Amino acid sequence: MLGQVLLATSRSALVRRSVSGFPLTRKVVDRFVAGEGVDEARKAVERLTDARLTVTVDHLGEETRDAGAAAATAKAYVTLLESLRPLGLGSRAEVSVKLSAVGQQFDEALALAHAREICAAAAANGSPVTLDMEDHTTVDSTLGILRTLREDFPSTGVAIQAYLFRSVQDCRDLAVEGSRVRLVKGAYREPASVAHQSKGDVDRAYVRCLRILMAGKGYPMVATHDDRLIAVTELLADRFGRSVGDYEYQMLYGIRTDRQEALAGAGHTVRVYIPYGDDWYGYFMRRLAERPANVAFFLRALGGK
Ligand code: FAD
Repeated sequence: MLGQVLLATSRSALVRRSVSGFPLTRKVVDRFVAGEGVDEARKAVERLTDARLTVTVDHLGEETRDAGAAAATAKAYVTLLESLRPLGLGSRAEVSVKLSAVGQQFDEALALAHAREICAAAAANGSPVTLDMEDHTTVDSTLGILRTLREDFPSTGVAIQAYLFRSVQDCRDLAVEGSRVRLVKGAYREPASVAHQSKGDVDRAYVRCLRILMAGKGYPMVATHDDRLIAVTELLADRFGRSVGDYEYQMLYGIRTDRQEALAGAGHTVRVYIPYGDDWYGYFMRRLAERPANVAFFLRALGGK
């Protein structure tokens, strides 16, 4: 219930202004966001890759409504990738892109053009790009743009949200040679007509999708902090003869860092999703919505504790 309210307010301009303006908010946001500028993002990349982790960096922002802002987002990614290039990390440091931040909502062709610029800059680093998945109304468009991008940048990946009914079929379509699929539970508020609502149903749907991806020919990116799903992944890897390099785990910056390190220490590829930038509100509210304990942490910080 609290989670639903937080997801609803993640799109409220009024709450955005009040929360963003509160000085102590920043302290709490820092737990989930690497910083506002490219230098802070690069430092987080260096710190995590030094600790045997791999990363995917997200320039925060979504639902851009004009061409100028879309171009600025694309430019920010290109600048970030240029700043990472001298580190020579190749595919150990990729980027994640929300197509709504580069114009998807008002001009799909523009979003595709910006995504191409980002993929070209990433290719110069020897790294792929992964498309984030946003609310269910964007899925067809995102998968269409993915198909076009993959003609020139075949390693481009995409996130699929297990909570959507359609995702079982999307996983079947994507479980093919060369494809990279990040499987997530799903972070948006979706209606019962398109998505599972209860945690149990979402978890079961995740296992169905995971099974398809692990049995298929693509490269599964298992993005979850859920120990039970990590255990299921290990069973499926065993069953379908996948070794540690044939799939990877992904987790969010600042969440279950001990688990990230333990999996990496056991030889797994673990990719940490690093968000940076000043437009952190929507991302931050979704993280609060996922876990009531985060709200308590937030309130304690606001109270100065
Ligand atoms: P949960 O059942 O939510 O959590 C399992 C356990 O993990 C919890 O008990 C808790 O211990 C820990 N945990 C989970 N979330 C938090 C948190 N916020 N704070 C503290 N502890 C927590 N969603 C999309 O819709 N589109 C995307 O493109 C997308 N990309 C993602 C990329 C990555 C790398 C990851 C890890 C997630 C992404 N998500 C995306 C978010 C995802 O959909 C889930 O909302 C999120 O991962 C929480 O689900 P969970 O699988 O960790 O399971």
